[in-house]
Amino acid sequence: MSEARIKRAVEMATKAHEGQKRKSGDPYITHPLAVKKILEEWKMDEDTIIAGILHDTVEDTDLTLDDIKKEFGETVAFLVDGVTKLGTARSGMRNLETYLPETSDNLLRLLIALGSDIRVLIIKLADRLHNIRTLSALPSDKQKKIARETLEVFAPLADRLNMGQLRVELADVSFSYTDPKRYQYLQSLIEKHNKSAEKTIKRAEKEVTELLNKEKIKFEISGRAKSVYSLHKKLAKYNQNINEIYDLIALRIIVNDITECYLVLGLIHSLYTPLGGRIKDYIALPKQNGYQSLHTTVITPDKKIIEFQVRTHEMHEYAERGLAASFYYNEQKLTENYRTGKIQHLPTNLLWITELQTAAAQLKEGKKVDLKKLKLNLFADKIFVYTPKGDIIDLPNGALPLDFAYRLHSEIGGRAVGVKINGKISNLNHKLEQGDIVEILTSKNQVPRESWFDKIFTSHARQKLHHQLNQKNEK
Ligand code: MN
Repeated sequence: MSEARIKRAVEMATKAHEGQKRKSGDPYITHPLAVKKILEEWKMDEDTIIAGILHDTVEDTDLTLDDIKKEFGETVAFLVDGVTKLGTARSGMRNLETYLPETSDNLLRLLIALGSDIRVLIIKLADRLHNIRTLSALPSDKQKKIARETLEVFAPLADRLNMGQLRVELADVSFSYTDPKRYQYLQSLIEKHNKSAEKTIKRAEKEVTELLNKEKIKFEISGRAKSVYSLHKKLAKYNQNINEIYDLIALRIIVNDITECYLVLGLIHSLYTPLGGRIKDYIALPKQNGYQSLHTTVITPDKKIIEFQVRTHEMHEYAERGLAASFYYNEQKLTENYRTGKIQHLPTNLLWITELQTAAAQLKEGKKVDLKKLKLNLFADKIFVYTPKGDIIDLPNGALPLDFAYRLHSEIGGRAVGVKINGKISNLNHKLEQGDIVEILTSKNQVPRESWFDKIFTSHARQKLHHQLNQKNEK
């Protein structure tokens, strides 16, 4: 770490944001400095921290990407640019969610569409975390909007990246704004439950500790309370029946290696009766986000139900900090990002990110990507194009400019006279390609035309055009 370089970034950002204030009245620079601190806590690399300090300068101040490139090099400039673009792509995310049913996959689609160095997302998540922490300064309609977006987009994203700690904070704080009454109710429910289970937990902790000590296993044990938002979601799944929620309180045991995990599981089962069907081996079969642990739910002799989670220190680190932890352990490989044509090397539990980056890199080089080969089947036969403002529009492969126009608005479709693709005038027969920036040229005098059916690929646009022609004929 070059402290001098980081200091220079702070000075540059302070000067650039001079005179700007946050809604809270604080000087604006408090925000980038808070983002810096979060990234440092996540143990991110120096370029990421510097980009975090500068993340709002290009959009909100006179500083340019060139200034940043000159002072801090290409990687920092690339990261700042990515964060800026990701900001403008947010309304595009909304768009994706409207048109495609599975929300979580849309996130992955968006990631590929952006083809970003994954560190861009980490900066964005740190940015969002601080914004959520300081949400009280905003007017209430804004609070609700940002909180909802955080619940819909950023908390699931943190989950995908296995950043458990971040997911819980983003979700719980947001939920306290989107549904304050429910939040308070569930919070008190959890407290009440914790209190009544205190004795049981204490006794189980003692019994397990004695047994593991006897077996000479080195371990840490602690309780973990369920987060408010995850309880909310689980209750919805179980008809609001709290008696069916078995993991309100869990005891977490952290050991040194995998063999000990299974040993401890066996020992727990020698003490208590496991509930059938509730033993989960996420070590042999990790969750899709790479989460690993052994889970078991048992009944104590006094007929209380407790969940145990057993994992190694490393698994725990990944469960809490996820992607950020991978970077920490892979720092030397980290500089090789896809921008230089190389793929970041990540642990197997986050291999989907490697897949994602491979796909993004190939798309960027104009190569065809065999999406069927992607284990995650991230998107099927889709291309992503941008509006000049940076919104992302997803279209089927084969789509033409009028498909894009009608997707934006039927009015834009109906009045189209031409198209600019990547800044160049093109014609309406031109097939759109992955990553194109598309601008539809319109004229008030234009009317929808029968002949356009030949220049349309999607049924969506076809329907809209049909509708417009019918209306025209009725007049
Ligand atoms: Mn910001």
